[in-house]
Amino acid sequence: MIKFTDDELKVVKKIEQLKDEAGSHAPSFFTFKQKLPEIDIKVDACFLSNPYATDLFIEYFNKEILHTGNIRDLLQSYPSQNGVIAEILADFLKIDSKRIFIGNGAIEIIQAVIHNFTKEKIIITIPTFSSYYEYVKDGIEVVYYNLAKENDYNLDADQYITFVKQHRPDTIVLINPNNPNGGYTKIADVQRIIEELSFVKNIIIDESFIHFAYESESYQLVSLSHLVEQHPNLIVLKSMSKDFGIAGIRAGYGVMRKEYVDTLLKNGYLWNSNGLAEYFFRLYTRTDFAYKYDKVRINYIIETLEFIHELQQIPMIKVYPSMANFVLIELADGIQSTDFVSKLLISYGIYVRTCDDKIGLKGQYIRLASRSKEENDYIIKSLKDCVNTQMKLAIANETVH
Ligand SMILES: *Cc1c(COP(=O)(O)O)cnc(C)c1O
Repeated sequence: MIKFTDDELKVVKKIEQLKDEAGSHAPSFFTFKQKLPEIDIKVDACFLSNPYATDLFIEYFNKEILHTGNIRDLLQSYPSQNGVIAEILADFLKIDSKRIFIGNGAIEIIQAVIHNFTKEKIIITIPTFSSYYEYVKDGIEVVYYNLAKENDYNLDADQYITFVKQHRPDTIVLINPNNPNGGYTKIADVQRIIEELSFVKNIIIDESFIHFAYESESYQLVSLSHLVEQHPNLIVLKSMSKDFGIAGIRAGYGVMRKEYVDTLLKNGYLWNSNGLAEYFFRLYTRTDFAYKYDKVRINYIIETLEFIHELQQIPMIKVYPSMANFVLIELADGIQSTDFVSKLLISYGIYVRTCDDKIGLKGQYIRLASRSKEENDYIIKSLKDCVNTQMKLAIANETVH
C-alpha cells in the first residue's frame, strides 16, 4: 500500500480523473500542464520517443526552415498530395510508390485499413495498442489471442499459427516489437507466420517500434515492408512518431497492395499530410540525415539497454524483456499501479503510464519509456528511492502488527 498525505490525495484524485477522461490513451503532457499546474513534470517517461532524434530534427528544421525564412512557404502553401509524398519515400525504401499510403500519423492508417478492409473477423493479440480493437466496426467479430504471461507476453509463433488456422479470420494484427510490453518476434518467425497464414486476407504488421529492434550486433535496421510484393495480403504500417520523436507532426506510412492504396485514395486522404510532415518525409529520405539519424538511433538503443539493465536490479518490480524503447513493469503484490504512478508524479515529477486499461494484462503494471541518459539516471534514482520507502513502510507495518 502506498501512503499519501491528505494534500497529495487531492492531487491523486485529479490525476485519476484526467486519466478517466483520456479513455484508453494516456493524457498528454500538455493536458497535464494545463489541468494540474501544481505538478512539476520533470520527465515525461510516458511518451515513447527517441529524444535525440527530436534534437536532430530540430537542428535541421532550424537551419533549413526557420532561420532561412522557408517557414513561410511551408505554412502558406499546400503540401504535396499523398501520392507525391509516397513517391519520395518509394526511392528511399525501394518499394513501388503505388504500394505506399501516407497517413496523418499511423493511427489514421490503422483506422483506414480496419474500416475499409476488415469485413468479418479480426484476431487481435493482447495486450496491444488499443486503437486496433477500438476501430473495429460494429458487426465485425473480434477474437483476442492472449500472449501468455508465463512466456513473458512473448509471441509463440507455432501456437499463434494454430490459433489463427482454427478461427479463420479475414484480418490479423501483430505489432513488432509489441506495445505495451516491447516483446520482439524475430523476422524469420514473422515470415513463417505470413507464409503459413496465406489464407488470411489482411495480415497487418505494425512496425512502429522496429527501429529500436535489431538482430545483429551492429544494430542494423530490420523490416518486412519489402515482402508486400510477394505477399499481397501483407500490410506493413509504420508510425514515425516514436523513433523520430516527432509525434506532434503526425506522420506515418503503410505499405500494402496497390488496389488497397487506390481504394483508400478514392475515399479521401488526398491532402492528409501537412507542410511540416512533408518536410520531415523529404528529410527522412536524404542520405545526410539518414546517416546522422542512424547514429542517434544506435546511441539511444545502447543507452536504453543500459537503462533496462539497471531497472532489472531494482527490487519489488519485474521488468519484462523488451526490444523497444520502453519496458513493461509489473509491481510487487499489494502495490496498485495507479497509486504508484501518482506517487512518481507527485514526489519525483516523473510521468509514467499505468497499464490498468490494457486488456490482457494480469496484475499491476506500468509502462516506462527510456529517455535521455540524464533523465534515465534520474528515473533510476527516483525509482530506487520510491521502492526503498515502500519497503521501509512495509517493514514498519509488520512490526506494528
Ligand atoms: C503510437 C503507435 C501508433 C500510432 O502512431 P501515430 O502517432 O499515429 O503515428 C501506431 N501503432 C503503435 C503500435 C503505436 O504504439
